[in-house]
Amino acid sequence: MKIVQVGEAVLRQQAKALTVEEIRSRETQELIEWMRETMHDAPGVGLAAPQIGLGLQLAVIEDKPENMKDAPADLLKERERKPVPFHVVINPMISLEGAADVEFFEGCLSLAGFTAMVPRARKVRVDCLDHKGNAKVIEASGWYARILQHEIDHLKGTVYIDRMYPRTLMTVDNFNRHWKSKSMAEMKKEFLG
Ligand code: ZN
Repeated sequence: MKIVQVGEAVLRQQAKALTVEEIRSRETQELIEWMRETMHDAPGVGLAAPQIGLGLQLAVIEDKPENMKDAPADLLKERERKPVPFHVVINPMISLEGAADVEFFEGCLSLAGFTAMVPRARKVRVDCLDHKGNAKVIEASGWYARILQHEIDHLKGTVYIDRMYPRTLMTVDNFNRHWKSKSMAEMKKEFLG
């Protein structure tokens, strides 16, 4: 499936909730499989239905152990990044636990080639339905909490550029070329003074 880029109206619209019947339908079950493949091929750790042009409150998430194998241990520790198994989040309600004061760079498959520093809450609680339409509560912290905040934003028509520090926006190429090894404190000093 094709991932849409910013400028498509669907990325700015409130997505529609799904009924349990709709969730259990063959169409939705197939959609989940296509979204899983699209996310893997991208590759990404999350994909929301609006990103493939569908205004539905559904997102898939998976952060595989392979995504972490080349990253230094201290970087993973700082980001509190651990593997997250594949799962589906439908009709979510998110509550942030504490202020959005954890700052890291993030990117989005719908803003290909760019990255920026985005403050997010360290912990969240999400009340949602799973792929079978069963109620589920997710308590997440660290990088997983960031992924949830990013994907659930998509279902409300919000993109990370609405929450970023605008002066930190850069190409992924330049991030890798100049800033990859710098700490967030050093980067804040450089870009935000
Ligand atoms: Zn995104």
